[in-house]
Amino acid sequence: MARYTGPVCKFCRREGEKLFLKGARCMSPKCSFERRSYPPGQHGKDAQFRRGRGSDYALQLREKQKARRVYGVLERQFRRYFREALRRPGLTGSNLLAILESRLDNVIYRMGWADSRNHARLLVQHGHFLVNGRRTNIPSYLVVPGDVISVREGSRKRAYFKELKAYMEDRPAAPEWLQVDPVAMQGTVLRMPERRDIDLPLNEQLIVEYYSR
Ligand code: SF4
Repeated sequence: MARYTGPVCKFCRREGEKLFLKGARCMSPKCSFERRSYPPGQHGKDAQFRRGRGSDYALQLREKQKARRVYGVLERQFRRYFREALRRPGLTGSNLLAILESRLDNVIYRMGWADSRNHARLLVQHGHFLVNGRRTNIPSYLVVPGDVISVREGSRKRAYFKELKAYMEDRPAAPEWLQVDPVAMQGTVLRMPERRDIDLPLNEQLIVEYYSR
């Protein structure tokens, strides 16, 4: 599956808020948004002063782009997720966020095994995880309740996972829909994520409106 491989800090500057795409760097003074909070590009500084409320379309577009960037999903895949969200019963916006949250790379990040979703994606692609005992290297794999995700036996000997085990306690707790056993390096999906489990400042209704034009 194709993915964006260019610089990501410009996305935070474009959206006018920190999207936390780079793990530890986002918390450090090296964060680009801390140093240059105006939009990227030659006229970024001028645009900062022109940043108004914008049209309805602009607001909807920005919200959609923000969600895409937070989860690292390209447009075509995002559209596919939207179609799937429409198909499912319930609120389309909440369904969309639940689908995005169920991606394996996001689950690895939420379980505390990676610094960022990008990092989680790389770890998944390198085959470090098992889903229900089977090696899975597809970041877009959608987990379902009952799935058991664990670090592969061979990968546990690697320095990264050895160190991770030591400081897992310092990581933020996993959301309620996931259960993590840091000693066994294993986690279980207890249920599908609900809107209240997703702590992101996203207005999913604007995304629904964007695709309903
Ligand atoms: Fe965004 Fe993190 Fe880059 Fe800061 S360091 S601009 S929060 S991706």
